[in-house]
Amino acid sequence: MGDAASSSRASSAAAESAAVAMPADAPEHNQSIPNTHSHAAAGPGQEEEEEACSQTADCLQATANRMPVVFIMLTAIYSYYAFVVVVSIQVVSNVGQQVGYLIAFHLLYALFVWSYLRTFLSKPAPVPATFAVPSTAITVSGTGWRRIVDSMERHHVERVDPFFKTLRPIGERYCFKCEIVRPDRCHHCSLCQRCMLKMDHHCPWVGNCVGFSNYKYFCLVLFYAHLLTLFLTFATLPYLIQFFNSEIDRGSENINIIVLFMIACAFGLGVMALFYMHVALLVRNMTTLESTRIPRLKMATLRKHGFDVGAKQNFIQVFGTNPWLWAFPVYTSIGNGFDFPVCAAANDEETGSASSDQNLIRAPTIRPQPISFGAQMKRVI
Ligand SMILES: [Zn+2]
Ligand SMILES: [Zn+2]
Repeated sequence: MGDAASSSRASSAAAESAAVAMPADAPEHNQSIPNTHSHAAAGPGQEEEEEACSQTADCLQATANRMPVVFIMLTAIYSYYAFVVVVSIQVVSNVGQQVGYLIAFHLLYALFVWSYLRTFLSKPAPVPATFAVPSTAITVSGTGWRRIVDSMERHHVERVDPFFKTLRPIGERYCFKCEIVRPDRCHHCSLCQRCMLKMDHHCPWVGNCVGFSNYKYFCLVLFYAHLLTLFLTFATLPYLIQFFNSEIDRGSENINIIVLFMIACAFGLGVMALFYMHVALLVRNMTTLESTRIPRLKMATLRKHGFDVGAKQNFIQVFGTNPWLWAFPVYTSIGNGFDFPVCAAANDEETGSASSDQNLIRAPTIRPQPISFGAQMKRVI
């Protein structure tokens, strides 16, 4: 499950940077409403040819996107064979040790596979219809962002504005592809081709976007992969030492032990770096994207990391309130994915950590002032 064998937060983030950088909310200032007349001059045959090429390219892209997942699954299958059949059954002779190895391995392996499949297969929660701006509502006259902002101002802003807590121009929030005004912490993923609520990043190793809907599963994937690789490393190490000391000649079994040890070490280093990076992000209620660009909040009284409402509450937002379910990849996250509690700035600078409950502004109660469009237009046009 390693993104890369990197030991720093920066390098870990860079391991997935290709996917992160591309989808992340890339400035869309240069985008324009698709020209529906661009194919008017093309003949029907040419249109069909272009469509076929586009489908082939999409198919190739989808296949390429799935390759890291196939690699992870093949590695997991081989690791199962190498540890269960070769190490536990063929190499280990002590029955008690065999049973202990098999129970511990199967427990960690099952939880890892369960978490991985939940992350891989989970479908992102849709952005509520409240944020939708149908293309028919967008005026086609005017230039730049003016036509978008004007349209929203007239038709939709009053409905979505109360949810907004971050200071971003309304026009910049508009997604041309999904035809929505993106809520706070929502970003468009160019690989998934849709907007994702509280998007963390697109992870090629789990073949899915990581965000509001599956962040708990993703954290559990890293946690169990970390434990599993540690277990495999220390369980195979004694037999690797025996091999290098030439104490026992096991033939092909030694090859499997060496390969399994190398897989456990290589994946273990990458997973360990990612796991501790996401622990640090989780307790600060920060996504990977937000760690590179901190969102600016509208209310001046809010702390710099306004979504950070204390380590305990941040953890509960993702893992839920029932401790018995924290270790299992079942959905227990709290919230709706577009309206988040924020925290006042009092004592923030002094303590630099969790805020008290009286500073916490819970999601349903906050109603920021309407956005000043005049000021924003100067920035976005
Ligand atoms: Zn979108
Ligand atoms: Zn994605």
